[in-house]
Amino acid sequence: MDASQLYQEIILDHNKKPRNWGKVEGCTHKSEGLNPLCGDHIWVTLKIAGDAIDSVAFEGQSCAICKASASMMTSAVKGKSVAEAETLVQEFRDMTTGKLDVGRDQHHLGRLTVFAGVKDLPVRVKCAILPWHTLHAALAREASASTEGDQDPIAG
Ligand code: ZN
Repeated sequence: MDASQLYQEIILDHNKKPRNWGKVEGCTHKSEGLNPLCGDHIWVTLKIAGDAIDSVAFEGQSCAICKASASMMTSAVKGKSVAEAETLVQEFRDMTTGKLDVGRDQHHLGRLTVFAGVKDLPVRVKCAILPWHTLHAALAREASASTEGDQDPIAG
């Protein structure tokens, strides 16, 4: 199976059976994410105990890429420390904007590298990044995140 087939399979699978779908009961952190370019609109909720992400969930209306990215993100950061999650946010952002070469540079992305190809699809980059951008906002106790305006994760 080549990289693009694997990408299709994973997107389809997570789209059909999104992991950690819904809301975390008694969440300690939450944020709303908007990507006006595509119409993606999601919520990320978390419960942080000590320094670890005890539970994390997402829900909302989004395209397949955004949903698959959110599903894989929640699986990846569950049980991690806040600092480890922030490292993944930065690495995912760098990968999808072409700053990190997953074949050459050190990273902790694991299976998330299936999203490396979106850097060649500029319209899709924001869809893939939105859940990560929203997670970052939630950890920073910001009420919302947007992929447009002064919060644009790609600009700069
Ligand atoms: Zn989208």
